[in-house]
Amino acid sequence: MTMRSSSRSAERLTVHANLVSVGIALVVASIVLLVYQAVAFRSALYDDASLQASVIAENVSASLMFDDEASMTDVLRSLRRVPYVESVSVYRDDNRIFTRYARAGISAEHIDEGTLASTEHRTTLSLGDVYVRATIEHKGHKLGHVVLVATSDLVRRQLLQYACFLGVACLGALWVSTLVMRRMRRRVTEAERELEHLARTDPLTSLSNRRTFYETLEARLGAAKDPHRHLGLVLIDLDDFKTVNDTLGHGAGDELLQHVARVLTSAVRGRGIVSRMGGDEFAVTVECSWKRSAVEEVANEVGHALCQPAIIDGDEISVTASIGYASFPEAGHDSGSLVASADIALYEAKTRGKNMVVGFSRELMNAAHRRAYLEAELRKAVDGGALDLVYQPQFDCRNGSLVGAEALTRWTHRDEGVVSPAEFIPIAENSDLIVRLGRSVLQRACVAAATWCADHQNVSVRVAVNVSARQLRHPAFVDDVLAALAASGLAPGLLELELTESHLIANRETALDVMNRLRTAGVLLSIDDFGTGYSSLSYLHAFPVNTIKIDRSFIERLPEHGQPIVTAILSMAHSFGLDAVAEGVEDAKQLAWLMEAGCDVVQGYFTGTPMSIDRFRALLREHALAQQTGTSGIIANDEHPQSA
Ligand code: C2E
Ligand code: CA
Ligand code: CA
Repeated sequence: MTMRSSSRSAERLTVHANLVSVGIALVVASIVLLVYQAVAFRSALYDDASLQASVIAENVSASLMFDDEASMTDVLRSLRRVPYVESVSVYRDDNRIFTRYARAGISAEHIDEGTLASTEHRTTLSLGDVYVRATIEHKGHKLGHVVLVATSDLVRRQLLQYACFLGVACLGALWVSTLVMRRMRRRVTEAERELEHLARTDPLTSLSNRRTFYETLEARLGAAKDPHRHLGLVLIDLDDFKTVNDTLGHGAGDELLQHVARVLTSAVRGRGIVSRMGGDEFAVTVECSWKRSAVEEVANEVGHALCQPAIIDGDEISVTASIGYASFPEAGHDSGSLVASADIALYEAKTRGKNMVVGFSRELMNAAHRRAYLEAELRKAVDGGALDLVYQPQFDCRNGSLVGAEALTRWTHRDEGVVSPAEFIPIAENSDLIVRLGRSVLQRACVAAATWCADHQNVSVRVAVNVSARQLRHPAFVDDVLAALAASGLAPGLLELELTESHLIANRETALDVMNRLRTAGVLLSIDDFGTGYSSLSYLHAFPVNTIKIDRSFIERLPEHGQPIVTAILSMAHSFGLDAVAEGVEDAKQLAWLMEAGCDVVQGYFTGTPMSIDRFRALLREHALAQQTGTSGIIANDEHPQSA
């Protein structure tokens, strides 16, 4: 507000300054014109007077020669008709006056030769009388001279008229320029207002944009002096917006964002300001309230309103959002810390799954600090090659042979001890760290598999490597895979990449392209954690995969519960010509049921915990030997349930 009024007074000042400058320019131009005109008028008067004086000198030469004063007087009297002539004096050759004519009321006695000499210049800038002299001659003999005095009254009158005209013209010009300037100012103000509006508003949704959001929040925080009043911030991030964009197109994506903007605005109902922070992220700055729960209420209502199905591009789709909220002063005293707190809550909402509303708490902040600490430590560990790889064996259910191993990362921190990949992998996935970590895992796993393959020429045991979404999106991913294969000498058919279904669906276009290129190169692909995401195999079949890995959550309920689901998954996989791997097999009953149901491969603590490369090579040796002696079969793992 203050900024706007100060810019307005600055504008007014500029207009006034411009008008003053125009005024000064007009006055200076008028003065120059007046001076020029004065010189021109005087010069014309001088020329006229000189002509009159010469004519008189010629006409009076005979009268002077014959001392005929009467005829001289007649000649001079004719000058009455010339309005500017004030007096004419005729002098003899010896400078004695012969006769003089003067207009009524004018005394010509004051004329002396000194005055005459000083005023005779034609272009003198003076408004005094003009004195001119003409010589009276007869046949080359000088008889005397005529002095004519012309009054400048006329010049003064003309100049006055001219000045009046100029004054009127200047006032007119000033008036016109005031009008023009006012109109210009109006146009400039309108254009500025338009620009300001564009700079503050999101063009797609017409909500205030990120910049305005921060300005409003700062202003609100500045005004919220009373420590008993609560000001809140709600951050909203749509779930799976990328999927809508990828599957229905960008037009539908835009329509969805506009729909969300409308839903948010009506859900908030004037209790706060809705802004679009960019992409599929929205924010609500909740007005000051005496009620501590006001922010929470808005957050829940917004979440509820967003759940209602929307018609986008003719299709009914349901949107959900992850929502995090925080309130002032508990969660932060300035805009930066309040936004950071709400962001921490939003992060938690996203990790808990879709359609969650989470409020900021001290525990969340501690977890965020731990994440930041672990990320810094993990970065060092990745750079220093301090992560280990372990291999969890996979067995063929039909003949019990060892067919592969899943490479899993291990991190032992000097102070924290063993940090679970379930904790540090999501941290790495939040930054580009996962790309470096994944690249190193890929290289080492390929080298390891090449080593165990070299141990046994006649067995082919593949290595499975987990791939994160960010890795898959990285433009160099396919090249990284091919380079790892080339460097290790591992056959592409012995490398399997595990991708999770939610990653595939969220990055459908890129994923399809990358997967096709990898399949062309001969690399195997599998869908990890199958059943936890979209679970539509007919949909997932569009992806060129070889294997699906049934998620541990289904296997752990076997054989008492969940049989129909696992049976359905197995038959679906087989009907699409895919192999099924059961993950997390923990006991003999589960294994027996899976073998009976026709599962292709098993992996779990019961059959083998993740182990070091040396132990895995020893296990492989045992299996190769057993195969030779014909005693091969799935060997229950003695160390169950510990993992390496
Ligand atoms: P995942 O890909 O589902 O890997 C299987 C996880 O289940 C492993 O946990 C493994 O140790 C565990 N597991 C295997 N058998 C059993 C069992 O019988 N019972 C139980 N309860 N658990 C079993 P881990 O090693 O803690 O890894 C957790 C997750 O971390 C992995 O889940 C994977 O998503 C991720 N991860 C691990 N290493 C990497 C990696 O190198 N790159 C990427 N991108 N992700 C990795
Ligand atoms: Ca996996
Ligand atoms: Ca898995």
